[in-house]
Amino acid sequence: MGVERRGTGGWDELLARERHESRPGAEWCSELWRVAVAQFERAADLIGLEDELRARLLEPRRSLVVNFPVRLDDGAIRSFTGYRVQHTLVMGPTKGGIRFAPGVSLGECAALAMWMTFKCALLGLPVGGAAGGVRCDPHRFSEDELERVTRRYAAEMSPIIGTDRDVPAPDMAIGARELAWVMEIMAGEPIAFSGGTALTRAGGLGAVYTLEAVLEYLREPIEGKRVVVQGFGAVGSVAAQELALRGAQIVGVSDVTGGIINPAGLDVADVAAHVAENRFLRGYPDADAVSRSEILTTPCDVLIPAALEQQITEHNAPDLECAIVLEAANGPTSIEADAILAERGIRVVPDVLADSGGVAVSYFDWMQDQQKFIWDPQDVADRLRSQLRGSFAQVIGTAERRELDWRSAAQVIAVERVAEAARERVNV
Ligand code: NAD
Repeated sequence: MGVERRGTGGWDELLARERHESRPGAEWCSELWRVAVAQFERAADLIGLEDELRARLLEPRRSLVVNFPVRLDDGAIRSFTGYRVQHTLVMGPTKGGIRFAPGVSLGECAALAMWMTFKCALLGLPVGGAAGGVRCDPHRFSEDELERVTRRYAAEMSPIIGTDRDVPAPDMAIGARELAWVMEIMAGEPIAFSGGTALTRAGGLGAVYTLEAVLEYLREPIEGKRVVVQGFGAVGSVAAQELALRGAQIVGVSDVTGGIINPAGLDVADVAAHVAENRFLRGYPDADAVSRSEILTTPCDVLIPAALEQQITEHNAPDLECAIVLEAANGPTSIEADAILAERGIRVVPDVLADSGGVAVSYFDWMQDQQKFIWDPQDVADRLRSQLRGSFAQVIGTAERRELDWRSAAQVIAVERVAEAARERVNV
């Protein structure tokens, strides 16, 4: 008697239709996902990536979504939604940020996980990308509440995260202290701790090291460069202060409460002291106040988006008055804006390079923990610097050889590396 094969009886047709209708993955649908997919497909087209690999790398390999209750300080119990997405397993374990923010969703995590794969591949780290987080407003938590939500999130993710499986990295509202809580839950015991300073500063330092390499390539000095930084958090505040130390003139910064500008240059250390005391930039006395949107069109040499995704769009890209956009945030530029900036001759240093400092140093931390050996903090900074310079040199080489913009060149290098692993590891 013949056995009916799986897939007959109309199922093939239905599946084919669903696949077609849902491409590129209705489950992951988000504006950020659309951007990540468009960038991936451009690189895939440039290298003539075979269809089978396109399909494997286009959609995330594994996802976990949870709702979990946490008791707040006032005794009320609130439910939170948490996510973790692992983009690919072909590179080995996965690695990627955890963020606590109101916009966290499955689609956002899927995009961030894909970018993380390419970020790590570009840096030459033997890990795939992941991303996760909790949809919440972390500013509303007390320290105790933040700790309870973080530890509970880590416990909920324990089926898929772990020191040899999926290793968390910092992202919005999650720094060295919060990662230490996560690691304790993951490992079941306190982990070796190399000190949080390097990790806390890594995102901002990575952006600065990248800009140093870019300016060196362009044969332009950093001294006197007029810089505007959008976002004054973990990444933006460190980038602004480090650039000021190198002689750049920080002419504007902004946060969620608005922007402040001073064409003669802000005293960034004083601005940081104001934020340390008042939490936000609002009310800073020695500068002119501007709106959150005006900060992006403030005249400068280098604009550093270091706040949120999708800040430079087709609406404001024609009005930007800068020579370089250094993407210290994840996905700050829309596809449409990218084309406008290229047309206008504004150079874009892509996020997969300029905001990879956080994951690089968190990878170094992981190595130190595995080796039970603590590196000197200067060694960490030096390694980060040389790794980023090396990656930028590769991007420039590919961009010049293939006549590509820097984002496409970075993506081409990264997608080629991941595709090579995927070809070898057909069952992963
Ligand atoms: P953060 O939460 O520490 O700071 C974010 C800053 O942006 C705050 O100053 C906030 O007030 C400001 N902001 C929010 N909305 C704004 C708006 N509409 N306009 C202007 N400013 C606004 O976050 P972070 O860790 O600095 O992350 C910033 C970006 O860098 C994100 O895209 C994140 O994914 C990326 N990143 C961070 C790390 C890291 O190590 N923390 C690593 C890699 C990438």
